[in-house]
Amino acid sequence: MRTFQTRSGIVQFNIEINRSLARKVKEKEENSMKKVVKFGGSSLASARQFKKVGDIIRADKARRYVVPSAPGKRNDKDEKVTDLLYQCYDAASEGRSYKKILEKIKTRYEEIIEGLEVNLSLDHEFARIEENFVNKAGRDYAASRGEYLNGIIMAAYLGYEFIDPAEAVFFDNDGNFDAEATDKELAERLEHVERAVIPGFYGAKHDGSIKTFSRGGSDVTGSIVAKAIHADMYENWTDVSGFLVADPRIIKDPEVIETITYKELRELAYMGASVLHEDAIFPVRKEGIPINIRNTNRPDDKGTLIVESTCRKPRYTITGIAGKKGFCSINIEKAMMNAEVGFGRKVLEVFERNGISFEHMPSGIDTMTVLVHQSEFEDYEQSVIAGIHRAVEPDFVEMESDLALIAVVGRGMKASRGTAGRIFSALAHARINVKMIDQGSSELNIIIGVKDADFETAIKAIYDIFVSAEM
Ligand code: ASP
Repeated sequence: MRTFQTRSGIVQFNIEINRSLARKVKEKEENSMKKVVKFGGSSLASARQFKKVGDIIRADKARRYVVPSAPGKRNDKDEKVTDLLYQCYDAASEGRSYKKILEKIKTRYEEIIEGLEVNLSLDHEFARIEENFVNKAGRDYAASRGEYLNGIIMAAYLGYEFIDPAEAVFFDNDGNFDAEATDKELAERLEHVERAVIPGFYGAKHDGSIKTFSRGGSDVTGSIVAKAIHADMYENWTDVSGFLVADPRIIKDPEVIETITYKELRELAYMGASVLHEDAIFPVRKEGIPINIRNTNRPDDKGTLIVESTCRKPRYTITGIAGKKGFCSINIEKAMMNAEVGFGRKVLEVFERNGISFEHMPSGIDTMTVLVHQSEFEDYEQSVIAGIHRAVEPDFVEMESDLALIAVVGRGMKASRGTAGRIFSALAHARINVKMIDQGSSELNIIIGVKDADFETAIKAIYDIFVSAEM
């Protein structure tokens, strides 16, 4: 025993013990952390991309459950394997020649296997796939093989267990996703599996036939797996460094959104901003699991974190801007409309009867405006107008087409004054006529209607006033 320790020596000794304890706690935490990592098609389009993915997975022990897409495009002119599979199946099932496309698909996978130097042959699998195509196993079956085969390669490359979603992701016989049965099965299957590859995009109906989610559905699988295993994080790896504040086709090099809430994301996604499949947020949201959008080609970028709620202040007053063109407004005017009980209901019933959903409904004292998608509305236009006349006897009904809606979204707007003022003065400076304004009661977004022709200029003006000016 060292009885002659100096006081500073003892302090130093204690610091060392604390440090090693902290290290051990951190290690233990890291060992028990579970992340689900989903990789999109462009992240797995070639052996080169696969290797980047392998490095990413191996860089963090917590990345235990891997959800791959099918190989995507290697360049702008390339084709996605999923699209090739649909083409191949259509030809085979209709008795047309399909061998050339099948060969193309085979070559894509063989190049990946060779490039990765894994000891694996898919000959057997392809023979079975061909037979099933000819025997009309279904388009969903066909499309699902893209993820299935990529999953087999990924599992062999990483040395992880392969789990076929046909045995763990379920749909009812009408084709609706069966969340309960899937959650139960996945949780049980994965409880004792340390590391696994679960291909995205598909599952099976209770009768055993293969069923896919809609296109881009591997995002949904990732979310379902994350929920089932109570993951600490759902990482969604793609080819962009996260959600951008605005559409890069309109704004050059827009800023990346660091943190966004599910609600904000819904608003922006609804208005056309897309990185993630729309249905992917629901399973994880229920569990409070954050999603991190990351870039396989720039793994050091932090990406965007999608969370239920946050006290992190957004970098700018607004979180994002998105919009869509192609709306039409139906303006209804009637003196004393405000005193007529049931006026709004009667008008909306006419839209309902014609199977048209409405987007927004700003109103004045004697006016009411209904905004709808022009393409959905065109065929029913006259029937709706006649219906409105019969239902509420308006003084007149007027329509305006080629309108665009722009959503300015941000949790920060609630706490800051003058946001609307800044938006409208920016638009006025850009000489843009504002056709409609709608602020949600949650103060999370302001929707602005402008002419289609003013759409891009309006987005630039709003971006400049909030992002470029606040930088
Ligand atoms: N491979 C499918 C598609 O291209 C699903 C996905 O990538 O998420 O849509």
